[in-house]
Amino acid sequence: MRPYILAETNWKALKNAKFDLAILPWGATEAHNYHLPYGTDVFESDALAAESAKIAWDKGGKVIVLPTVPFGVNTGQSDIYLDINLNPSTQLAILSDVVEVLNRQGINKLLLFNSHGGNNFKPLVRELGLRYPEMFICFSNWFQSLDKTKYFEHEGDHADEMETSLMLYLKPELVLPKEHWGTGASKEYKIKSFSEGWVWAERKWSQISEDTGVGNPKSSSKEKGERYFKDVTQKVGNFIFELCGADTNEFYE
Ligand SMILES: [Zn+2]
Repeated sequence: MRPYILAETNWKALKNAKFDLAILPWGATEAHNYHLPYGTDVFESDALAAESAKIAWDKGGKVIVLPTVPFGVNTGQSDIYLDINLNPSTQLAILSDVVEVLNRQGINKLLLFNSHGGNNFKPLVRELGLRYPEMFICFSNWFQSLDKTKYFEHEGDHADEMETSLMLYLKPELVLPKEHWGTGASKEYKIKSFSEGWVWAERKWSQISEDTGVGNPKSSSKEKGERYFKDVTQKVGNFIFELCGADTNEFYE
């Protein structure tokens, strides 16, 4: 039983407990190339949030990890079989209820631990911040916390070398053998402005990738996944510890 994981702890331990920070991991349920499980983002969320919280907890941080939300925004994958979409408005409704509990019970810091590129928490955090002025809410994208080019040969953003390596480390029994891995080849926009970052439209996933992957997984390995996992959780864990102790009214210098 890990005392910083809500799903594992109990009323005996929590009756007189006091936490400074709650972490809400948020994944997605969706196809990940041919070879990774639909729950990839959930498994990543679970493992990365738990290990990061452990690092903070061992230093004295009062942190509690809530259960991972298994569905994310998949509006661009409506034609991919059993990709389960949660609309952004539903996401706001879920988040509102969680924040209301935390606010009422005096856990005034919340970190949304995001594991899925389609989840966009910025407008939600803005709206809830206004509604709950006592709450400090932030979100992190662990997949942007380190320079991936220092760990992996091939770029990508979905079921790529990074995700395949992580899953080979975390859940090797759920990764299909290499002969089943797709190349993760993806198409770019004809109009170049879309690729420059200043114009955005949702990508129609089934039209940009045959195997649903974006990024070639062929050079993935368990060792790369382990090294990346350890470095990400060290960085996120240090951040969580800092946030636990921070006075959010004295945030700037
Ligand atoms: Zn993923």
